[in-house]
Amino acid sequence: MTRTTSVVNAMTIDVEDYFQVSAFDGVVSREKWETMPSRVAANTRRLLQMFDEAGIKATFFVLGWVAERHPQLVSEIASAGHELASHGYGHRLVYDQSPDVFREDVRRAKAVIEDLGGLAVRGYRAPSYSITKKSLWALDVLAEEGYAYDASIFPIRHDRYGIPDAPRHPYWVGQNGHALVEAPPSTVRVLGTNLPIAGGGYFRLLPYWWTRWGITKLNSQERRPAIFYLHPWEIDPGQPRLSVGAVTSFRHYRNLHATEQRLRQLLADFSFGPLAQVVGDVA
Ligand SMILES: [Zn+2]
Repeated sequence: MTRTTSVVNAMTIDVEDYFQVSAFDGVVSREKWETMPSRVAANTRRLLQMFDEAGIKATFFVLGWVAERHPQLVSEIASAGHELASHGYGHRLVYDQSPDVFREDVRRAKAVIEDLGGLAVRGYRAPSYSITKKSLWALDVLAEEGYAYDASIFPIRHDRYGIPDAPRHPYWVGQNGHALVEAPPSTVRVLGTNLPIAGGGYFRLLPYWWTRWGITKLNSQERRPAIFYLHPWEIDPGQPRLSVGAVTSFRHYRNLHATEQRLRQLLADFSFGPLAQVVGDVA
């Protein structure tokens, strides 16, 4: 297999079901989650299979709510040698929570996932990258709760998230003995602006060459690993269609049928490992 560069990039998966995305908050209430047909376990197992075939290890940021309902899945992820990390418990946006409620959420998720997986959870990623300038207090809470790194600050402009002038590569945050590493999703800098190149809708909606070009640029010119992310529902064209507005519909449903093949191509083109490994290089 000929890979573009020798840099090991981070492969990360946010393990949540198709109806739990923040854009569907007004469509599927939390009380309805239990009644929705669940597809997260089957989709995550397809990813595990693909990673196994490609010979790569990844990081799975599991939602605590999902972990409790699919305990077997959590132990399968761990026993396949992947990193288990936390996507919080209830998928509420960080900037919509008080610090106390947030602390309870990340503590509960960490305990549930560690209990089921039998591994220490070191990493956290917020729902919809919701650590922004309004919620930077969350980093102190995470460090106090024993997290070693956070992967939630997107250094771009977006309607729901982002700190456009935040650093683009992993860096230390915090002080007073409570420090952790921030590991942002990857961007490339073009004409003075950070553009997202490594995951989710940007991977699904834009042509594949964009991601390939961006990761190559990071690896070759900046000599940095990319931090890539995806959700299990993004490789599932068979998921039930919910009635949502045009913008949300485009962002969520477009190119679902093409994403699995695209991911296989990505795994062939670049090297990947767990995020803890990339973070460890900084620490
Ligand atoms: Zn999420």
